[in-house]
Amino acid sequence: MTTSTWLSLDEALARIKAKFPTVKQTTLCHIDTCLGRITAQDIVAPVSVPPRAVSAMDGYAINTSVGKQNSCLPVVTTIFAGMDATDVTLEPGHAARIMTGAPVPMGADAVVMQENTTQRENTVCITQWPDRGENIRPQGNDIFQGDIIVEKGTRLQASHLMLLASVGMRECPVTAALKVAVLATGDELITPGTPLEAGQIYNANSVGVKALLHPYQADITDLGICVDDPAKLRDTLLTASKQFDILISSGGVSVGDADYVKDILDEIGEVDFWKVAIKPGKPFAFGQIGKCVFCGLPGNPVSAYVTTEKLVTPLIAMMQGEQRSLNDLTGLAVLGSSIRRRPGRQEFLRARLEINQDGGWHVTPLAKQSSGVMSTVTQANAYIVVPAETAFIESGTQVQVSPFRSVN
Ligand code: AMP
Ligand code: MG
Repeated sequence: MTTSTWLSLDEALARIKAKFPTVKQTTLCHIDTCLGRITAQDIVAPVSVPPRAVSAMDGYAINTSVGKQNSCLPVVTTIFAGMDATDVTLEPGHAARIMTGAPVPMGADAVVMQENTTQRENTVCITQWPDRGENIRPQGNDIFQGDIIVEKGTRLQASHLMLLASVGMRECPVTAALKVAVLATGDELITPGTPLEAGQIYNANSVGVKALLHPYQADITDLGICVDDPAKLRDTLLTASKQFDILISSGGVSVGDADYVKDILDEIGEVDFWKVAIKPGKPFAFGQIGKCVFCGLPGNPVSAYVTTEKLVTPLIAMMQGEQRSLNDLTGLAVLGSSIRRRPGRQEFLRARLEINQDGGWHVTPLAKQSSGVMSTVTQANAYIVVPAETAFIESGTQVQVSPFRSVN
C-alpha cells in the first residue's frame, strides 16, 4: 500500500515497525568486537562476582566479637589479592594483614582500613573499631551466578562488555550484522578530495549517513555516487537490492526533472510512503526492492542528516532487535527568542541549549535553519521540537528540547 498523504513521524515509525521483522540469524561475537551490537538472548552469569568474599580496602581483617576501640591485636598472616586463602582461618583476637581484592579468611567478619590503625612490629592497634561486615565485599556482591546480567535486545555498551568480561565470558550471542549500503545520487556530486569544477558540489551526505549509523554497528558499504541517469540508477538500485538488507540513497526523491529515485522504486519495488511531516526532512521515500529495505533520503544535507537520525536509525535498531533504544532524552527549556513559522510539519530547529546563571535550561534557535545549511548543525547542541500545528511560540515559553547525542 502506498501512502501519498503526509504521515507524522510516529505514524511513519509505526509503519516501519509493522513491516520489518528483526533479523533472525544470531552469531557469537568476541567481546573485543561487539561494542554496539544487540544481544540475541538474555545473558546469564556463569559465576558470581566476586566469586568469594574479598576485602574492599588495604588494612586488617579481624573478628569484631573480640576487642574494642584501641585494642591491639597480633598480626598472624598476610593475604594478597590472588592468593588462595581457603585453608586460612583467623582466630578471634587475631588480625590478618589484607590487601584490596584479597580473599577474606574464614573467621574474619570485618576489615579495618589501614588509615584507622597504628602498627608496631607484629601488632596492630585499631583506632576505629569497625562494624561487622565493614569493608568486606561479600560473594556475589555485584553479580550472583545465574543472574541475568544483560537482557535480550540490549545494545552493548562499554559497561556491558566489562560486565561480560567480569563473569569470564569471551563471546556474546548477538543478532547478525545488517548489511547496509549507502549511495549518493546527483550529476553535480563529486567525492571530497578532488578539485571542484563548475557546477559541482561535494558529496557530503554519504559520510554523514555512515557516521550517524556508526554506533549501530551495521556492516556498511559505500556505493559512491550515481549520476541522474534512470537506466544507471535502476541498475545500481537493483544490483544493490540483491546484496544488502538496507539500501540508503540520498537525493533525487523530490519532484525535479532529474529526480528519478521514487519512480524507479515504484517500478522495481514498492513505495510504502514518501511523505513524512517533519522539517527538515522532505521528502523521504520508503519502501522495498525485493527483500531489501529502501530509504530514499532527501538531497539537502540537513534533511538527509535529520531523516537518518529520526527514521533510518530507528529502522536499523528495530531490525537488529533492539528493545530499548539509545536514549533520546527530551526535556523542557525556556525559549530565548520567539519562533514564528508556517504550521503543518513537526520541526526540529537547530538550537543552542545552555544553563543560565540561575541554573535553568535556556534554548535559543540558531538564525539559519535552511536545509542546505549544514554549518548550523555543527553549531547547535540540541533541537527544539516544535509540534506540527504550532505557528508561534513566544520568547520565555517552555519548549521541548532534544539534546544531541554524543557518539558512543
Ligand atoms: P535533490 O533532491 O537531488 O534535488 O537534491 C537537493 C539538494 O541537495 C540539491 O541542492 C543537491 O545538490 C543537494 N545534494 C544532493 N545530494 C547531495 C549530497 N550527497 N551531498 C551534498 N548535497 C547534496
Ligand atoms: Mg539531485
